[in-house]
Amino acid sequence: EPRTGRLPAWMKRTLPRGNENFFTHELLRELKLETVCENARCPNRPECYARRTATFMILGNVCTRPCGFCSVPRGTPDMLEDDEPQRVAEAAFRLGLKHVVITSVTRDDLPDGGADHFYRCVVAVRERTGAAVEVLTPDFLGDPAAIDRVIESAPEVYNHNMETVPRLYRKVRGRADYRRSLDLLKRVKEKAPQMVTKSGLMLGIGETIDELFDVIADLREIDCDVLTLGQYLAPTLKHIPVARFLPPEEFDALAARARTMGFKQVVAGPFVRSSYHADEMVPTHGAM
Ligand code: SF4
Ligand code: SF4
Repeated sequence: EPRTGRLPAWMKRTLPRGNENFFTHELLRELKLETVCENARCPNRPECYARRTATFMILGNVCTRPCGFCSVPRGTPDMLEDDEPQRVAEAAFRLGLKHVVITSVTRDDLPDGGADHFYRCVVAVRERTGAAVEVLTPDFLGDPAAIDRVIESAPEVYNHNMETVPRLYRKVRGRADYRRSLDLLKRVKEKAPQMVTKSGLMLGIGETIDELFDVIADLREIDCDVLTLGQYLAPTLKHIPVARFLPPEEFDALAARARTMGFKQVVAGPFVRSSYHADEMVPTHGAM
């Protein structure tokens, strides 16, 4: 639980009533699905649900990696569920979603890292709902065949978060590799130039502003279209502590500076998550 008492005033936000039933517990239980929105009790739910956007987590809820900022449990991952693509599509349909974000834990135990399962989920959601689909994938250990399999499903947006600056990778993203993550986004843009590429960082985890802008420059260098910047919040006392809370005005200034570097969209603010306002950058299906 976030330690509300120690948060600066701008991080305190109460949820308006009336949105909690969007995902009925029955629907999620019946379809045996997990959403990041509900699991993380994301503060943006009212707004995202009003925009008919939600984020599903596929491939189980146990991760093979040890990131120091993340509350997903580590351990022996679950078996792949063959009918999960249909269940995600069914939930998206019943909820009337217009923008579906599909993300997953990292499955280094699977030969393709779960790429084919991503493929099947994207295709199933599109067939059942016509919604725009955004994938937020792990790095697939840089396996080009796995990345290409996801690209083949033709999501409108391909998102892979850099999360933080390279100096902090070992501490924050154990077993990830800065260059490998950049190369993934580069490959997507090269293979499918019309696909929107997107990446995000959590701020206030110990980076300097110069280091941040080095990463942002690297993202522009590989023609990344969309940038998200949000405040890091430690999920528990056992996770990496917050180094700094950036005030909203600082997010605005960082976003303004990043915009001058040529992104198609920059979304920045204390509550920004990579799927926040995710629907804004999506071309219509006819334009794809
Ligand atoms: Fe769900 Fe993402 Fe919106 Fe949060 S920001 S409610 S996780 S879609
Ligand atoms: Fe969490 Fe992703 Fe890291 Fe796994 S790889 S611990 S899901 S951030």
